[in-house]
Amino acid sequence: MVDRNKLIRLSKSTVSETDIRAVKGVLEREFLGMGKEVQEFEGLLTEFFGHPTVCVVNGTAALHLACQAIGVGIGDEVLIQSLTYVATFQAISATGARPVACDVSRDTLTLDCEDAERRLTSRTKAVMPVHYSGGVGELDEIYSFANRYGLRVIEDAAHAFGTEYKGKRVGGFGDISCFSFDGIKNITSGEGGCIVTEDEEVLEKTRDSRLLGVSKDTEQRFLAKRSWEFDVNFQGWRYHMSNIMAAIGKSQLGRFPEIANKRRSLAKLYDILLKNHSKIQTMPLDYNYIVPHNYVVRIEGLRDRALLRKRLLDRNIETGIHYQPNHWLSLYCVEGHGEFIVTDQEHKKLLSLPLHLDLEESDVHLVVNTLIQELDR
Ligand SMILES: *Cc1c(COP(=O)(O)O)cnc(C)c1O
Repeated sequence: MVDRNKLIRLSKSTVSETDIRAVKGVLEREFLGMGKEVQEFEGLLTEFFGHPTVCVVNGTAALHLACQAIGVGIGDEVLIQSLTYVATFQAISATGARPVACDVSRDTLTLDCEDAERRLTSRTKAVMPVHYSGGVGELDEIYSFANRYGLRVIEDAAHAFGTEYKGKRVGGFGDISCFSFDGIKNITSGEGGCIVTEDEEVLEKTRDSRLLGVSKDTEQRFLAKRSWEFDVNFQGWRYHMSNIMAAIGKSQLGRFPEIANKRRSLAKLYDILLKNHSKIQTMPLDYNYIVPHNYVVRIEGLRDRALLRKRLLDRNIETGIHYQPNHWLSLYCVEGHGEFIVTDQEHKKLLSLPLHLDLEESDVHLVVNTLIQELDR
């Protein structure tokens, strides 16, 4: 029997008194929709990234609107690693375009450029690298690949809020980056997400498309007004962020240095404790630059992951799998889509260990010791 009181959870939201006060403030001011709080959160994020930011209702919506804004639609293809959350695939197929599953590089489990190049067609419009576990892989290579073939790049940076690559913060360089602020990501706004880019056309389009395509409605909402007479030029969505969400986001962003330190030090401790175990391989990530969303290990020779996960859960340790490949799904499985050698091999070995802000160092020791006992039994 799992004892919920003792359970070491895989992930969880952590809410501070400051977060609660921020929400209470919005509730008391009785302006719950999109207004000043959202404008302020966008301003703070723009400072954080060094690039303009548009906030939306979740990370999936951010990816969807980014795709739409660069003109991805029916008949188009977007290159995307199979090893990602289904949200990335759904964001592409929501536009009517086809997500073209690609393999990953063995080391970093990020998009393999050479494999992506083999899957390129005249219909390919964009490439969507996923920053797996906070690491961005060889992102420079992806940008030169994209430049070579005139493709747009939309980074799924849901795992990489705060991560730095070659001295620059993810979101602060590149074409378009999308983040998620769902409850268990590096910072949360309850649900939520954002699009970060310097492309004026994408900024303008996403500001309108999050409000049903109502032209310049964002500007009105930020003045606590709304548009009564307006034009609509394209299909939009009800994807805007609320003041309640933005208040949580602002408060969490203020706590980010503390949040980042805690996540980093837990991941570093796991790395140290797991370093010398022959069957366990840690990710090649440097947590001085990366702020990890999750902590993934690979277990060599693992035959029955479900059984291992069950035994760990029986001992009050929750684990996860990031991710089940998307090319296995009925919706995205395409005949003749070729091989996914690395994804199919590596996926079976993956196990995500608990990582969240309420985890103590002693919990990490307990997780590691229990895992090793179970592997050695
Ligand atoms: C969380 C996540 C998303 C989607 O974000 P939501 O805010 O949950 O919609 C997309 N891609 C990856 C890799 C994620 O982890």
